[in-house]
Amino acid sequence: MRINDKIKDALTEQITEEHGNIHRFRIQKGIEQVSCFWCEKDGNIQDFNNFCKKNFISNDKLLFENFKRIEKNIEILYGNLNRLNIDLKRPLHLDSGSILPIDMDFGKYDPFAHLEEDLYKNKIAFFILLNFPYYTLDEKENSSKKWDRKEWSYARVGDLFISRIPSIINQKISEVFTNAEAYISEYNIYMNRLIDNNGTRYFPEELKLISHWGLRDEIKAAYQNPEGLVKQNMIYNVMNRIIYQDIPGNVINSPEFVWNPFKNEVIKYGKKINFSSEPDTRYDHFLKIFKALKRVDKYYLNYSTHIKRKFNIDREIPEIEVEKLFEKVLSSEHVRSTAKIIKKGLNRELLPFDIWYNGFALNNSIPEPELDKIVLKKYPDIESFEKNIKNILIKLGFSKNKAEFISSKIKVEPARGAGHAWGPEIRTDLSHLRTRVTEKGMNYKGFNTAMHELGHCVEQTLSLYYIDHYMLHGVPNTAFTEAFAFVFQTRDLEILDQANENIDSWYYNVLSTLWSSYEIMGVSLVDMKVWNWIYKNPEAEPRELKHAVIKIAKHIWNKYYSDIFNIKDQPILAIYSHMIDCALYLPDYPIGFLIKFQIEKFLRGKNLEKEMERMCVIGKVIPQLWMKKAVAQNISAHPLLEETKIALEYFRNKGHLK
Ligand SMILES: [Zn+2]
Repeated sequence: MRINDKIKDALTEQITEEHGNIHRFRIQKGIEQVSCFWCEKDGNIQDFNNFCKKNFISNDKLLFENFKRIEKNIEILYGNLNRLNIDLKRPLHLDSGSILPIDMDFGKYDPFAHLEEDLYKNKIAFFILLNFPYYTLDEKENSSKKWDRKEWSYARVGDLFISRIPSIINQKISEVFTNAEAYISEYNIYMNRLIDNNGTRYFPEELKLISHWGLRDEIKAAYQNPEGLVKQNMIYNVMNRIIYQDIPGNVINSPEFVWNPFKNEVIKYGKKINFSSEPDTRYDHFLKIFKALKRVDKYYLNYSTHIKRKFNIDREIPEIEVEKLFEKVLSSEHVRSTAKIIKKGLNRELLPFDIWYNGFALNNSIPEPELDKIVLKKYPDIESFEKNIKNILIKLGFSKNKAEFISSKIKVEPARGAGHAWGPEIRTDLSHLRTRVTEKGMNYKGFNTAMHELGHCVEQTLSLYYIDHYMLHGVPNTAFTEAFAFVFQTRDLEILDQANENIDSWYYNVLSTLWSSYEIMGVSLVDMKVWNWIYKNPEAEPRELKHAVIKIAKHIWNKYYSDIFNIKDQPILAIYSHMIDCALYLPDYPIGFLIKFQIEKFLRGKNLEKEMERMCVIGKVIPQLWMKKAVAQNISAHPLLEETKIALEYFRNKGHLK
């Protein structure tokens, strides 16, 4: 149903006459917003006119009272629906035996699916559209200096209804994501079944690694191992076979067959057997997610693609700005100098998997098997980790009271996948910290993940329980919560009493951050370019998508990596599992690295509790404003690059470039 300009203009005049010209902007915008989503089923033109006349509020006090009520009820709705979501997905997310088909069905059920539709039906959405203008990212940026906390909260109410998506489409989206997540979280490789061309096995019997996180982390761990290089090569071949999808279908999540990933041969009882490759399932999931998300394009006020929504609504940083940030680091001469240091340390030419070189981070630490022992002794099971959260926080600089309060808001649980933190949306609920625990207890990897997730949980607690307005709870986007997660994760050795605090370790940390950023920025650019490709080729088949992904990954490699690694056409940047089941989430990591670095640099020598709380209660304003308030800078690659320059000079002068 189209409500024409003549009707809207006449209505604007009538309401303005009643409430005064001073309210003209809000009246005009409100009527415009309501008219965008008003359909036949909501009423005829007369109903539309009556609704707007009856519900427009000009009185500040009354508007504020309504705002308070909306805020409270949004917390109740979001909080409880989020709670349902967490609970229904437990069998899928927790390491709790096999997944039943009915678990998948419950997992696909999305408690939020009908919320929007319901709130349009009962006209609450229209009330909000009429009284709380929506501001685009540009408008928010322009207004950010003059808005106070109340005005920011009003703007966030204005963000609540910028689309009207039929629930059947939301349900479909939830379903394809659940399927993709299950595919990824069950994608394990039995490492002991891998052989090289001589038939030699290199991995222990019980080692089962999830792609790509587990595989990647094993490459990292292998730097400390005498047989490291051959293991790394082996894993690299596994990864390439996953990307190309010529991986034998029967070695995925199954210990039944022996596999030589170099020659791609499957062996049973000592004999080569025929096999079928995975039938591009990886890319099929990606496409299904794309198709489901594309269906909502036409239901949005301003942003007509998933890409635009991801950057302008979710992240609130424009795509072009993000791309520029990444390119600045990827093409920096400091990355090239850092690569030379790595080459010297490894005493060989760089190989493509050295994008995961972690020698800087490990510089002052002890080997991982030792760390495994220390962790196991401290945290024999998941409960002991949960009990210790208070002490961990105290060790990080939190006061006893605050540590007690925060730890009372965190529940630790065993993850089926790699681990995650699922926060509460209501001030009666807990943060759910999930990490992987082996049958023997927690190992270093599990602990390291737990520390990362703890950073998320502490942020989630502070930014919900201490915020002034619920509508501003949280952080501007996921990159910020990742920043806090990384701040905690990098202090893991401190918690294990294994850290060596000196100036060297800070500078190693700088080089480590630079190198990790270099890796994940390339991965993210691949993700971004693939999404742009897919919007231009919406009818693509899984096979075509695969070819495009590989082509794009090679292109990015040749542009920013081949000069350093002295080899062209490597597709490895396409291995990340998030690319398959998270729909353009990856750029949050490197943005997070930069933000983390700026925050970490700012926090050096300061008290973590005081500063983290101060930052968390800034809440969900736009990212650049948050950063200015938090660390008095914009989001920028400059501080990292500058500090890298200093670190490189420091090691050069010391003459011990490692
Ligand atoms: Zn995280």
